[in-house]
Order: sequence, then structure tokens, then C-alpha cells
Amino acid sequence: MYEIQEERGELLDAEASLLEWQTLRKSVGDKWFTPGIPGIQERLGKLDEAETQWREYIRRSRAETNYSNWLYDFANLLRRRGKYDEATAVLDRLDGSLRNDDAPISDIKADRQFALGKAFEELAWDRYKAGEHAKAVQAATRAKQLLRESIQLGMNEANWFRAEKLSEAKGLLAGALVTEAAADLGRALSERLALLKEAEPLSESLLNGSEFLPDADTNRIHQAMLRRNRLYSVWYELALSPETAAASAYWEARAAEWVDPTTPYNRMQSLREQRKFGDAEILCRQILEQVRNERSNATPRLARSLFDLAIVLSEQKRPKESVPFLIQALDVLGKCQPAVPMFRERVLNQVNHLSTLMAKSGQRNQGEYEALQELAKLATVEAQRAACSENLRLITGGKLQWALENRKDDNAIPTPKELWDYVPRGEPKCPAGGTYVIGPLKASAKCSVHGSR
Ligand SMILES: [Zn+2]
Repeated sequence: MYEIQEERGELLDAEASLLEWQTLRKSVGDKWFTPGIPGIQERLGKLDEAETQWREYIRRSRAETNYSNWLYDFANLLRRRGKYDEATAVLDRLDGSLRNDDAPISDIKADRQFALGKAFEELAWDRYKAGEHAKAVQAATRAKQLLRESIQLGMNEANWFRAEKLSEAKGLLAGALVTEAAADLGRALSERLALLKEAEPLSESLLNGSEFLPDADTNRIHQAMLRRNRLYSVWYELALSPETAAASAYWEARAAEWVDPTTPYNRMQSLREQRKFGDAEILCRQILEQVRNERSNATPRLARSLFDLAIVLSEQKRPKESVPFLIQALDVLGKCQPAVPMFRERVLNQVNHLSTLMAKSGQRNQGEYEALQELAKLATVEAQRAACSENLRLITGGKLQWALENRKDDNAIPTPKELWDYVPRGEPKCPAGGTYVIGPLKASAKCSVHGSR
């Protein structure tokens, strides 16, 4: 509670100083506005004030496209306040202006359609819950169309989008299909069930092991779990069966557990944040024991439990004890189905870190240290691959920025000299000595050693 109050205190201060700055700018005739103000006001629960800020801004501003990201936030606020028609109008205007300003770049198009599709998907479900069935179907239809467009681009052309947002887009498309199945009462039962069958595999895309990645986005995973629960509850309503009832209950429980502060896992995380590593270790060991007793011995969940314990030991400056758990985590990840390659990367980074630490501290005994050195070599190779992949990401970002500012299309290729101006810290170097082939906008950049990302 104290922490929340403290944070609230800071938010109030932040709001006050931003408002003061805004008044100052206005007094000199500047049309100054920052979306930070309504953002903070929303977090403070001052929803009326936030809405007033938005309205004033929108009345004065004509250049909507430039500020489109802010308008998503406004539409979201309106939706949360139950002003669905107005939220729809804001999103419609956005959609219109975005379509007129035809972005030449696939990634930007994909991202725009994604953001709008997400807004319509959320609106559709809220309208359905409010009993506005026909309007829920309308919004779900819009969401479907927009999300399908972005998924299509992600599959074919938009590289960054494919890597960063494609799986979430699939989950949202599943959400729109579920809302349509729930709300479209005029349709034949078989058609409504067909929508749910289409949604089922899509709704799994964020929940196939990647939820156990270190650094997974907790809120996004939670939303995906809620959507999965929604899918099976609607299914159960349309066609009673023990399977859908069980699946719905399972995902309801998973979603609740995911954010429940009293679960051992969330308690452990909170102890780590408070730097109470000894207490966190006790919990880590309990969790690990429990997970080991589950049916399979090759799950991302088990790898995560091993990794967490290794980290907590390392946080307590006990690298020697940490090593065996890292080795076990790698072993488990090697057997996991589906594979979680990004997870492996994280574990190997930690191996590298520990190996350096142990070499410095002299904390080693012969066999164990040698095993760690072997792993560290492997880790170096993979770390180089990861660093190169990050370079390729920067190159792709630079290409997008270059194309945007110079109004180029998907076939254009920047010269290296042009491009490095758009890459943070200039020309990147592959740590394994590879050279980079930039390629046209629609294709990925490649490294001569590591290939494309
Ligand atoms: Zn490379």
C-alpha cells in the first residue's frame, strides 16, 4: 500500500508540473499538448479530466495522422467509459486517415492494421458484454478484416512485424472470431461453431511455451489466457460438452493464477524485487520440487524453474551452486516440445556471465569449471549469433526509417552510406566477422556468416 501511495504521490507531482508547463506554452500562443497528461490522469483515476484534455486537444488539432498513436489511447479511454459509439467514431476516423496516407512500407502498414484491429477487437467484446449484439458483430467484423490484413503482411512481407507481433495478432483474430460466434445470434449454429474451430489454434499462439520465457510480457500473456477461456466458454454455451467445460475452467484458473499475488511463483518474484534473495530461494526450491513432480520432465515450465533458482543463487553470489541448475535447464530446453530457442539464448548468456564471475573469484573446482568453460564456448557462439541478429534488427529499422523519410517503396535499396545515418551508432559489425548484405526493403538484410535473422 505504501508503495502505491508513494507512486501516486509522484504521479500527482508529474501531473502538476506537466499541467503548469502546458499553461505556460498556451500563454505564449503555442498549441502545446502532451498525451502524457491524460495518460497520467487515467492512472490516477481522474477519467473526467483525462477525457477533457483529449477533447481539447482534438478540437485544436487538425493533423490527426501524425498523432494517431495518441488517438488509440483516447478511443481506449472512451471504450473503458462505455462510450462505445464515440470510440467507434474515433477509430473510424483513424482508419480513414490512415488509408488515405498510404504507407509505402509493409511493416508500418501491418503495425497500423494491427493496432486498429486490436482496438476494434476489444470494443467488440465490450459491446457484446453490454448486450449490443449487432454492433458487437460489426466491430468484430472490422477487427477480423484489419487483423487478417496485418497477418497477411506479416507472413509475406513485414519482417519486423512477423518477429514482434504476429503471434499476438493471431490471438486477437481468434478473439474477434469468438466474439462474432457469441454475438451473431442470427447465424446458423454450424457456422458459429465453425468460427470457434477456426479460432482455437489461433488463440494458442502466445501460449505454447513462450509464456515461460524470462522477460515475457505478463499482461499480454494474461490477455491471451483470458481470450482462451472466453473461446471455450462460448463454445460450451453453444454446444454443451464436458471437454469445453473443462477447457474453459482450466483457462479461467490459469488466468487467475497468473496474476494472483499469493501464488508461490508471484510471491517469489516479488521477494526478488525486494531483494530478499534468501526467502526467494526457499520458494524457488519448493516450486522446482513441485514442477519436477508433474507428468513431463521436458517442459518450458521446468526449464524456467531451474533457471529461476540458478538466478537467485547467482544473485546471492553463489555461482558454484548455480551452475548445475543452468546445465539442467539447458538439458531440459534441448528436449522441450515446442522448442523455445530464445529461452536457450538467455540461459547461455547467464552461463557466460557466471563463467567470467568464477574465473575472477577463483571459486572453482576442476571438473565443474571445465564443464562450465565448455558451455561458455558454446554460449559465446550463440551470443555472437544473438548480437548479429540484433544488428540485423537495427539494419531493418534503419531501412524502414530511411524509406519513410525519403518516401521509398518496398523495392528500394539504400546505399550503405545512406543507411548508416539511420542506424543508431552507425555501421554495425558482426562479432564473428561476417559482412552485411542490405538488400531491398521487402527482403531481410543478411549476414555472410549468420544468414538472415
Ligand atoms: Zn553475423
